[in-house]
Amino acid sequence: MGKRPTNPALPYGLLASGGMFNYDSGMSDFVDDRDAAEAVASDEEILQQAGLSDGELEARRRALAQVRQWGDPVLRSETREISRFDDELIAEAARMIELMDAAYGIGLAAPQVGKSVRLLVYRVGSARPIALANPRIEYSSEDAETAEEGCLSLSGVQVDVDRPIHVRVIGQDIRGESIMIEASGLDARVIQHEMDHLDGVLIIDRASKDQRREALRALREAEARSGYAA
Ligand SMILES: [Zn+2]
Repeated sequence: MGKRPTNPALPYGLLASGGMFNYDSGMSDFVDDRDAAEAVASDEEILQQAGLSDGELEARRRALAQVRQWGDPVLRSETREISRFDDELIAEAARMIELMDAAYGIGLAAPQVGKSVRLLVYRVGSARPIALANPRIEYSSEDAETAEEGCLSLSGVQVDVDRPIHVRVIGQDIRGESIMIEASGLDARVIQHEMDHLDGVLIIDRASKDQRREALRALREAEARSGYAA
């Protein structure tokens, strides 16, 4: 991600659902560009080309097996504000960060691990991971850009998503202290992607009609395949 240039020909708000968007798969970091047809290419192929060993791929598979996948109702469920900042919450955030890293994602939201609470984690590049509870967008820029996003809950799907470039988010850290985060570019994109999860919104909801159709087809095929294998 981040290598696809801003597309000024695609005015913000023209996408099917309008509004903002967001991201947990770091997959596009490994590729320069992919057209719509490639949106269904295997994540593993890409990671293999990026030099991951069989052991690393196996560890990723184990992590992904713990991430709720498309079709799971928890991904569309309402989430509760977090009111108890205790050891259990800290452990939950730590587990989410571990899963995110093992799956080569750059963000993860609580519904993706089956918890309907307003908690997300992210880590962009080598920065330290951040856990954010009860996030709220306080400001988002008029300036938006379109970039490819993937999602750990939508294996193999990559779609173009338009989002504001700059956001200011307020929320609480894992101990309940108020925090404010000003983010731009990929950081802002990830935060918005994960916040979407807290509202039951997925990237396919933010994609163009054509890309959504293609993505849904791929997801249904993958679902049918895993159904037969079970
Ligand atoms: Zn996601």
